[in-house]
Amino acid sequence: MQPLRGTKDILPDEIQTWQSIYKIAHDILNIHNYKEVRTPIIENTDLFERSIGNFTDIVNKEMYSFNDQGERNITLRPEGTASIARAYITNKLYTQKSINRLWYLGPMFRYERPQKGRQRQFHQLGIECIGSDMPIADIEVIKLAIDILKKIECSNEYLLEINSIGNLNEREIYKLDLVKYLEKYEHEIDIDSKKRIYKNPLRILDSKNLKTQEILQNGPKLKEYLGKDSLKHFNTICNHLQYLNIKYEINNYLVRGLDYYNYTAFEIKTKNLNQQNTICGGGRYDNLIEQLGGPCIPAVGWAIGLERLIILIQKSLSQKVEQNIIYIAIHNSYKVDIIWDIIHILQEYKLGFELDLSNNNLSRQIRKANQLKAKICLIIGEHEIRDKSITIKWLQTRTQQTIRLSNFKKYIQYLKKI
Ligand code: ATP
Ligand code: MG
Repeated sequence: MQPLRGTKDILPDEIQTWQSIYKIAHDILNIHNYKEVRTPIIENTDLFERSIGNFTDIVNKEMYSFNDQGERNITLRPEGTASIARAYITNKLYTQKSINRLWYLGPMFRYERPQKGRQRQFHQLGIECIGSDMPIADIEVIKLAIDILKKIECSNEYLLEINSIGNLNEREIYKLDLVKYLEKYEHEIDIDSKKRIYKNPLRILDSKNLKTQEILQNGPKLKEYLGKDSLKHFNTICNHLQYLNIKYEINNYLVRGLDYYNYTAFEIKTKNLNQQNTICGGGRYDNLIEQLGGPCIPAVGWAIGLERLIILIQKSLSQKVEQNIIYIAIHNSYKVDIIWDIIHILQEYKLGFELDLSNNNLSRQIRKANQLKAKICLIIGEHEIRDKSITIKWLQTRTQQTIRLSNFKKYIQYLKKI
C-alpha cells in the first residue's frame, strides 16, 4: 500500500523537527501576543473562490473540491488566510479587540505536480495581524518571519524581496495599460502568460520565461502608477527594515498568486536556484475581510511552507530528549500491583522507560535492553516476585543489586540526583 501521490508520512525520526518548529514558533509568537487558532480543514468552496480569486492557479486548477453527501460543495483548504478571515468574521473577533494577532500551523492541500518541495498535502505556519493599516504592522509581521527563520537556523542564506502592488484603483489603471502593452506581443510571450492576459495579467510579471521578461522590461512599470499613500507606506517599511538590519531587495515584478493583496507584497527566498525557492510569502490584505462579508478591517500576514523549510535546515533541530533509559524485564507470573506501582513511580519522577512486551524469557529481555542501549534494566523475575523485591541491573557497568520493593521509590529519588 502506498500513500496518495504527493502526500507523505511524517515518521518518529522526523517528528522532533516538526515539534521543535512548533515550539520555536509558539515561543516567539507568544511573546508578541499572537494567539494560535485552529480552523477546520474543510470549508465551503465558495470561501476560496471569493477570496483567493477565480483566475488564480489555486482556484483554477489546484483545489481539492468535492460534493459531500448533502450536495454541499466543499474544499480542503489550499491556504490559511481565507479560513482565518472567515473565522474572524464568523466569531466576530473584532468585537472583542481592535487588533487581533493570530497564528496557525497545519496541513494545506493543492493538486499540483509533486516534486522536491512541492506536495499535494503540505504544511504552512502562518500569522495574521488583523486590525491595523499602519506600516509598522507590516514590519512587525515581516520581522517575525525573519526572527523565526533565524531561530530555526535555516542553513541556506535567504533574502527578503518586497514590492508594493498599490491599492485597487492604482492596480486597475496599471492593468489596463499593461494589457494594452502586452496585446502587441501576444504572439511572443509564453503560452501561460498569453492565457493570463485577460484573466490575471499581473501574474505575467511573475513569469520565469526569458522572452516574456525581456518584453516586460520595456513595458509600463507598476511602481510608476503608485500614488502618494502607497509610496509613503512602502518607504516607511523600507526605512524600518534598514534600521532593523534586515536585508531586502525591492523586486518590482513581485506579485503574489492570490488576488486579495494590496500595498505590501513580500517573499522570502533562498538563494538556492531551483524552482521551489520561496519559503515564505505574504502581504497586506485590507479588503479581504470586507469582501467576505465582514467589516472593513485591514490586515497583513504571511505563510511559511514547512516542508521547504525543513529541507534547508542544516542542524537537526532535535532537542536532547531523554532516551528511554530504563528497560523493564518482567517474568510472566508477575502480580498486577507490582508492575503498576513501579511504573507510577517512574512516571512520577519523569524517567523514560520501556516495558518489555515480548513474553520472552528474562535473559532475552535483558539482551533486548542492551540492544536498546538502556542504562538500567529493572528485573522482576520469579525470585523477586516471591520476595517482593526488584533487581536493578546497570547495563554499562554490569553491576546489579536487589532491593526491597518498598525501597524502590527511595532508590529512584537517589537515582534522580545522580
Ligand atoms: P509557488 O510559487 O512555489 O507555487 P505559491 O505562491 O503557490 O508558491 P503561497 O500560496 O504563497 O505559495 O504559499 C506560501 C508558501 O507555502 C510557499 O512559499 C511555499 O513555501 C509553500 N507552498 C505552497 N505550495 C506548496 C506545495 N504544493 N508544497 C509545499 N509547499 C508549498
Ligand atoms: Mg503555487
